[in-house]
Amino acid sequence: MKVIVIGGGWSGCAAAVSAARQGADVTLLERTDTLLGTGLVGGIFRNNGRFTAAEEMIAMGGGDMFHAMDKCAQHRNVEFPGHSHSSLYNIATIEPEVQRVLAGAGVDVRYQVRIADVEMDGSRIVAVKTKKNEGDLRFEGDAFVETTGTAGVPNICTKHGNGCGMCILRCHTFGNRVGIASRCGIKEIEGHKREQVGAMSGSCKLLKESLAPHIVEELNRTGVVVVPIPSSDDGSSDKLSIKACQQYALPEYQENIVLLDTGHAKLMTPYFPQAQLRKVPGFENARFEDPYSGGVGNSMRFVGMAPRDDALKVDGVDNLFCGGEKAGLLVGHTEAIVTGVLAGHNAARYLLDEPLLVLPESIAIGDAIRHVRERMQTEEGLGLKFTFSGSVYFERMKQLGSYTTDVAEIGRRIEKAGLADVFAAPDASSRHRSVRAAKPVVQPAAVHAVG
Ligand SMILES: Cc1cc2nc3c(=O)[nH]c(=O)nc-3n(C[C@H](O)[C@H](O)[C@H](O)COP(=O)(O)OP(=O)(O)OC[C@H]3O[C@@H](n4cnc5c(N)ncnc54)[C@H](O)[C@@H]3O)c2cc1C
Repeated sequence: MKVIVIGGGWSGCAAAVSAARQGADVTLLERTDTLLGTGLVGGIFRNNGRFTAAEEMIAMGGGDMFHAMDKCAQHRNVEFPGHSHSSLYNIATIEPEVQRVLAGAGVDVRYQVRIADVEMDGSRIVAVKTKKNEGDLRFEGDAFVETTGTAGVPNICTKHGNGCGMCILRCHTFGNRVGIASRCGIKEIEGHKREQVGAMSGSCKLLKESLAPHIVEELNRTGVVVVPIPSSDDGSSDKLSIKACQQYALPEYQENIVLLDTGHAKLMTPYFPQAQLRKVPGFENARFEDPYSGGVGNSMRFVGMAPRDDALKVDGVDNLFCGGEKAGLLVGHTEAIVTGVLAGHNAARYLLDEPLLVLPESIAIGDAIRHVRERMQTEEGLGLKFTFSGSVYFERMKQLGSYTTDVAEIGRRIEKAGLADVFAAPDASSRHRSVRAAKPVVQPAAVHAVG
C-alpha cells in the first residue's frame, strides 16, 4: 500500500503522516533540501478561527503538526490588529521538529527530488519521475497526493508581480515548482481579481539585529510591535490590495508597521521600499532577511490550483489527491495542514477500498472545504482568499456560529459528528486486517463511493 506525497510543505508533511497512520507505506518527495515550503517564513497560527480549526483537527486525531507548532511556539495568546489569541512559532526551530514527527510516523522523506513528469495508465498515475538531468528518478505508487503549493515561480512572479524577490522557495537553486495535476493533463485553476492574476505573499522578514534595540526588546517580550508610519506617502495602499492574505488587508496595516516575533521580525506587508522603511525611526538600518528583495516585491501565489471534490480527490485522475494551496484558495499553515490530513487519509482509504471521507458541514473544516470549492466556481469567488483567520471566511464562521475557543465544545461537536479520532491510527489488529485485504489490487475509481 504505497502512497507517494509530492511537495513537503505543511500540507505534504501532514498528508504523509496521515496516510502513514492508516498503515500506508509513505514516501514524501521534496524539491528543496528543507521541509515546510512557505511555512519556513510563516509562523502565525491559532489566530481567530484557526484556533477552532486546529482544535477540531486535534479532536479528530490528526493533530501531529499542531502539536509540533505548539512545541515550537515562542509566543502564545498574542493580540495584533484584527487578530486574537495568536501563537507564533519560531521559524528556525520548527522544521527539525517536523522532521522528527515524520521520522516517528515512519515516513520516508527524500530531499532534492523535483518531480517533473508522470506515467499514466488510463486515468491512474502509475509513477512520478524527475527529469533525466536531475537524477532520472522514478517512484511507483498506488495513490498519490499533490501538495506542491502554488507559490512562485520566477517567470510568474515577474509576469504577475514585481519580479523574483529571491524568496525562501529558492527556485534558482532547486528548480521551479511543477504542478502534478497539470502533468496529468488536468486544466489547473488560476486565482485572479479582474486583471490581477494570483496574489502576492503578504509578509516579509527583517533581521532583528538591524532594528533599534527598544523595538527588539518589545518584540522579544510581547511578540508584537506596532509602529505608526510617519508619512502616508508610502505606496502601501497598493500593497494591501494585492496581498494573498486578505485577513491583513486592513487600514491598521497601511498606517503602521506591524512586526511579529517569529524568530526574525515578521513585517506584515508584502514588501516595503527599503529607502522609505529606513526613514521610520528605529528602522534606519533595517535589512530584509526574506525575501532578499523585500524592498521591491514578494512571491506570487494562487496560480495552478487543482480542480477537486470535497474528499480532496483531483477531478479526472482516479488516484490523485491534493491538499494545501493546491486544493484551492485556502490561505495559511492551518488550512494547509487540515486539508493535507484529509488528503493523506483519503489516499489510504482509496487503497483500502473504503469510502472516501468527506467532512460534514457541521464542523468548520468540512464547511470550509466545501464552501471554497463552491465559491471557486464563480468569477467573484476566484478573486477572494479564504482563511479561518479573517476576511470573508472568518465572517462566515461567526455567522454560522462555528467559531469558538471552547475546546470542550469543539470536542463535543466532533464527537457528535462521529469523527472523534477518525484520523488516528486504527488499533493494530484492525489495521492489519485492512492492509492485508487491500494489498492485492488497486480498485478502479468507480467502486470508491464518496461518503
Ligand atoms: C512569506 C509568507 C509568509 C506567510 N506567513 C504565514 C503565517 O504566518 N501563517 C500562516 O498560516 N500562513 C502563512 N503563509 C501562508 C502559508 O505559508 C501557506 O498558505 C501554506 O503553508 C501553504 O502550504 P502548502 O503545503 O500548500 O504549500 P507550500 O508551502 O508552497 O509547499 C509546497 C512544497 O512543495 C514543494 N514542491 C513544489 N513542486 C514540487 C515538485 N514538483 N516536486 C517536489 N516538491 C515540490 C516545494 O518546494 C514546497 O516545499 C505565508 C506565506 C508566505 C509566502
